[in-house]
Formats: sequence, C-alpha cells, structure tokens
Amino acid sequence: MSKPVHQIGVDKLRGVGPQLGLKLKKLGLYTLQDLLFHLPLRYIDRTQITAIGGIQPMTEVVIEGEIRASDVVFGRRRSLVCKIQDHSGVATLRFFHFNRAQQERLKPGARLRCFGEARRGKSGLELYHPEYQHLDAANPASLEETLTPIYPATEGVTQGRIRDLCGQALARLNQESIQELLPTDLNRQQHKEIAYSLVEALRLLHNPPPGTALHLLAEGSHPAQQRLAAEELIAHNLSLLKLRQKVQQYPAPLLLEDQAARDTFLQQLSFELTGAQTRVAQEISADISTGTPMLRLVQGDVGSGKTVVAALAAVQAIANGKQVALMAPTEILAEQHRVNFEQWLRPLGIRTAYLTGKVKGKAREVQLQAIADGVAQMVIGTHALFQETVIFNDLGLSIIDEQHRFGVHQRLSLRNKGFSPEQPQLDGPAPHQLIMTATPIPRTLAMSAYADLDCSVIDELPPGRTPVETVVLSNLRRNDIIERVRVSCTTGRQAYWVCTLIEESDVLEAQAAEVTASELQLMLPELSIGLIHGRLKPREKLEIMSAFKSGEINLLVATTVIEVGVDVPNASLMIIENSERLGLSQLHQLRGRVGRGSQSSHCVLLYSPPISGNGSARLKIMRQTTDGFKIAEKDLELRGPGEVLGTRQTGDMQLHIADLQRDAYMLPQIKQLAESLLLNHPENVDPLIARWLGQAEIYAQA
Ligand code: ADP
Ligand code: MG
Repeated sequence: MSKPVHQIGVDKLRGVGPQLGLKLKKLGLYTLQDLLFHLPLRYIDRTQITAIGGIQPMTEVVIEGEIRASDVVFGRRRSLVCKIQDHSGVATLRFFHFNRAQQERLKPGARLRCFGEARRGKSGLELYHPEYQHLDAANPASLEETLTPIYPATEGVTQGRIRDLCGQALARLNQESIQELLPTDLNRQQHKEIAYSLVEALRLLHNPPPGTALHLLAEGSHPAQQRLAAEELIAHNLSLLKLRQKVQQYPAPLLLEDQAARDTFLQQLSFELTGAQTRVAQEISADISTGTPMLRLVQGDVGSGKTVVAALAAVQAIANGKQVALMAPTEILAEQHRVNFEQWLRPLGIRTAYLTGKVKGKAREVQLQAIADGVAQMVIGTHALFQETVIFNDLGLSIIDEQHRFGVHQRLSLRNKGFSPEQPQLDGPAPHQLIMTATPIPRTLAMSAYADLDCSVIDELPPGRTPVETVVLSNLRRNDIIERVRVSCTTGRQAYWVCTLIEESDVLEAQAAEVTASELQLMLPELSIGLIHGRLKPREKLEIMSAFKSGEINLLVATTVIEVGVDVPNASLMIIENSERLGLSQLHQLRGRVGRGSQSSHCVLLYSPPISGNGSARLKIMRQTTDGFKIAEKDLELRGPGEVLGTRQTGDMQLHIADLQRDAYMLPQIKQLAESLLLNHPENVDPLIARWLGQAEIYAQA
C-alpha cells in the first residue's frame, strides 16, 4: 500500500533541502497533496513544431530552422537580430541581452529549435528572447510529450523546480495514495461534472496529454477542472449542511401558535396581509412550533412587507414566554423598526428594548437591565446586540434584517448567543433564526451560499402599489429635472435626490452631497431641503429622517446611506445622479424607496455621457423591470456572484478552483450530490471539508 500523499511531507522529495522546504511552506505547500492541488494557471504547447509560415501572431510556438543572417543592430537599444528559415518561411529572433559566445554560436548555418511568443514586428513575425537549443545530428532534441504547465508564481521557486516537484508527487499518485471522496455510486454517468476520478483529474491537469483542448483548460471548463470544482463546491455545501445539523441536533423551544395573540395583532394592522405574506408567516409558524431550531431565510423584494411577517413570528414567540431579538444593519433601520414594533406590539402589552451604538450611559444600562431581566420581551437594535455585555433572558427567536449586510460570521455569532452566556458555542440549545433579505438572490446561487437555510420567498407586493416608472436621462437635462422636482414638491409630494461618487470615501461623498444640497436650495428657494449622509451623527440622521417622514422636509438630498429599508410612503420621486456608476442591486435598493404609497412614482436615472456598454446595459434593465429577481439574475450575469451576494459572503467562501459564475450551471447537481453524500457516505464528509476548507474551516470557530 502506498502511503497517503497528505501524510508525506514535501521534504521527502528529491532536491528539497531545509531552505527550499521553508520556501514551500511559506507558499502553503506542506505535503505532496498540497503540491497536487497546486494547479497550473495555464499551459503552453511544446509538443509540436509549427511551420514558420503557419505561425499565428500572439501565440507561443516551437519552431525549427536554420539561421540565415545574424547581425548586431544599433537602434534605440543594441540588439542581436537573427533570421531563421524553414521550408515554409522566415521569422526574426531578437535578443537584447547576449554575450559574445552566444553571438558566435548564432551564426548563419546554425540549426535551432526555438520556443517563444510570436508577435508582429517591424520585419514580420518576431520572437523576442526565445528559449533555444542547437540541433545537430549527434544530439537530437526530443519534444515535450505533454503540454507544459505554468504554475502560479511562487516566489523564490522556479517553474522548473515546481514542475519537477509536482512530477515527483504525481509519480506517487494512485488510487491508494489519495482518497477518492466522491464514491463511484454517486453515478458518474448522470453527473457529468464528476465523470473524472480525482486521480485522473489531477494527472491530466498537471500533465495534459498532447491534443488536450487548451481552450477548455483556459476557460476552466475542462471535465478534469470541473471535477475538482465540483468537489470543492460539494465540500462547501457540506460544511453548511453540517453546520445546520450541528445547530439542529439541540432542541429549540416549542413556540406554539397562539391564535388569540395572532388575531389581536392582525386586527390592529391598517391593512390585510397579502397571500404571500400569509404563506410565509405560516411556514415560519410551522417551523418554530417544532422542537428543532428554525434556520430560515425570507427573501422578498423591497417593499414586499417582510417586517410585519417578522413581527408576527415575534408575537408567537413572546406569547410562548420567550424573548425575541431583531437586528438591523443600520441605526436608521433599527430606529424605524423600533417605531413600527412599538406601535404594533404595545396593544398586545409587549415591552420593547432598544440598543444601538448611540444608546449610551445610564440609558444603556437601563436597556441592558431590561434585556437581562426579561422585562423587555422584544429587543431591537443594531450589531450592538452582538456585544459581550448583552445578556439575553431566554432568547427564543432571533431575527436578522437585511442580512446581505452581515457575513456568515456575524450570522453565526448571533446564533451562538443562544440561551445561556456560559455556553456561547454552537454546542448548546439555539434560538430559532429568521433571516430577511431584500436582495433577491438567484435560486442557484442561494442554494450554495445559503445551503444551511430553508428559504421562503414573498413574491407579491401589497396591493395598490403602482410600479415605479423609470427614465434614463443625460446630465445635460439636469435643469429640466430640477423644474420637475419643483412642480412635484410644491403639490405636496416628496422627493429624494441621491448623490453618488466612485470613490469609496464617506468624506468626499458627503462633500458632494453638501454641494448639491446648497445648489438645489439656491434654485429651489421655496422648498425645504434636508441633507443626510454617512458623516452625520446617528442622532442627526434620525432627526432628519423623522423630519422627512413628517413632511417637514420636501426634498431630501442623500448619499447612498438611504439605500436600505427606509420607508416614507409619501415620497414618490427619486433622482439618482451618476446612476451609471452604481451596480444593479444598489440601484434597485435605492429605487425601492419610492413606489411605497398609492400615488404613481417616478425614478430618474441621470448619467454623465459618455457611458460604458456595461453601464448602459444596467440602466436599460432598470428601465425595463422593477422585478428584483430579474434584476438579480442580470446582475449575476453582468457582475458576478461577488456583487450579488455581497463580498462578505463570497469572501467567506474562499473558493480555490470553483467559480460561482462559471460553474453556476452545476449548482443544482452539487446540492443533490452533497445531500446524497451526507446520507450515504457520512464518513467522507469531514475529510472532504478538511481537504477543501482546511484551516479556514471558518464555520467551526465562528
Ligand atoms: P420590506 O419588505 O422592504 O422590509 P416593509 O416591511 O418595510 O417592506 O413594508 C413596506 C411598507 O408596506 C410598510 O409601510 C408596511 O407597513 C407596508 N405593508 C406591509 N404589508 C402590507 C400589506 N399587506 N398591505 C399594505 N401595506 C403593507
Ligand atoms: Mg425591510
């Protein structure tokens, strides 16, 4: 039996002394298995000789021929220029660095084999500094038998050395020395992404035989690459499924439905729930009335009414004597939730506590005490709720709003708050978890990024909303737009004017907004104009928002701080400056601030010409649809999963080989395969996670 490659240190290889060993460790290459998973970035083809007459410019080629002329040329730089000829044509070799001995040997009549990139130069096709070797009958040079891999840059270790080490590792690679963790009964015919075995895939990728489709390798869509990508995605999926299992192995409180509390709550609302709200509320209610911790994600477009669904779940938990925490990503949102929840829950005799960074001193102590005593049954706040000093009293349900702003870590750390502060780890009873997001996530993507969560979708807007009408206009029409704001605001409506900047700088963005606000005030003296940006103190922001909500302010000039969740139904016009700079999901979030009341709403997307193709594609989508899911699909297409999920989540995923966008097509299969592994081969699950997530097994210590 051969020793497993993950147990053989790189120092066991020929030519690895202490110094090289250290360098390899710095690169994260400790074992032969690490080397085997250290895959080439690209490949070059030195397996065949190209006729000089058939060279395509900008390709790497091997050519053979005879030197016909060899001259030192004095131009801007001194160079040695040789003409090389075969039966089909002539090319130029150009050397900027050369010594006398080289010059001597590159004389007319010498026969060479050269390798390099051919470019179109002054005198036809040229190879700059090609690698070359002399050919003579006594010393026939053999061609490479496989494509030549180029490995990721490895500081202080040459390509030749890495190739040699990988070659040695490959020599020890067989079915026994590396564990095949995707067993054959997973049906390789049906799942073509795992058609290759692990050994086959690694062999091919380090040593592709001649004729291997280089373009597939370059795209990452060769079956050997797909096999590894699939395994990596399966490992990630499993780590989330394991996490789910781990949380759900402990009991959660039984939060039985309380019909009376529910009716009282619904009766005092000024509206009826939509069908979608009722359906999702029932899904949640069913989840929390079992003894297993709920892990549910609610997706719903902006304005679909997620808050009231969350409140209904809170009422059910509180009716069962438990405490509920609701966490929002910003002070503005937390404050808005506090106002709503107090209004909705007071008639039911439920007391709330409120905790954000701005609640300080004595007030903070009072809130902390109310939370710890259980006097407050409903706790609302920002991530301040994560802090050590917050001790919950019998927390039964935690709700996280707008979760795309929070990373997996934060999600977990609230989960870890659990019931007792002495047991802040995952191994203890967990509260039910409800996570709400207004950023619709395409289904396939949600499957992998949120494999630990069940998913509900509120796919219906409350009645009476008229879709926001969107126009795209050049900045040159700015004055017309200002006129339009005047008309709209003097007839009792309210408007947002959103300033954006490319630089991710609060300071600059705030300055730009200040300038715009004073400019608009000059042109619109009859309006009351407010200004809100990220540099204001939380208290100042809240004051401005409440003045806008009460109608005191007609026009609110804002930076993108108003993006999330702000709800002022009377605002029916939004102007977004430099809209071409924003991503689709951000535009969609912003636009979601209008169209919340019953009057028809408008959104004006201003852009400064000229506009890029991608920018104009985005604005076109915005004009065509208000459907958040369609917009998210398009965003995925245009900008990739990092933007759609938020960098935090994708950052957490740390993919080495897989690419969520390129490999999106296989995500449904991945889910199936991961579930089947967990069920039929549980013994493979931990090794898979260890192989791909290794030390970065983020979920363990989160
Ligand atoms: P989001 O899903 O974006 O968080 P909100 O929960 O803030 O949406 O709801 C948006 C607005 O719609 C709020 O003013 C809310 O009171 C109102 N609303 C929610 N559900 C309904 C409904 N079924 N009928 C009418 N208005 C509703
Ligand atoms: Mg909301």
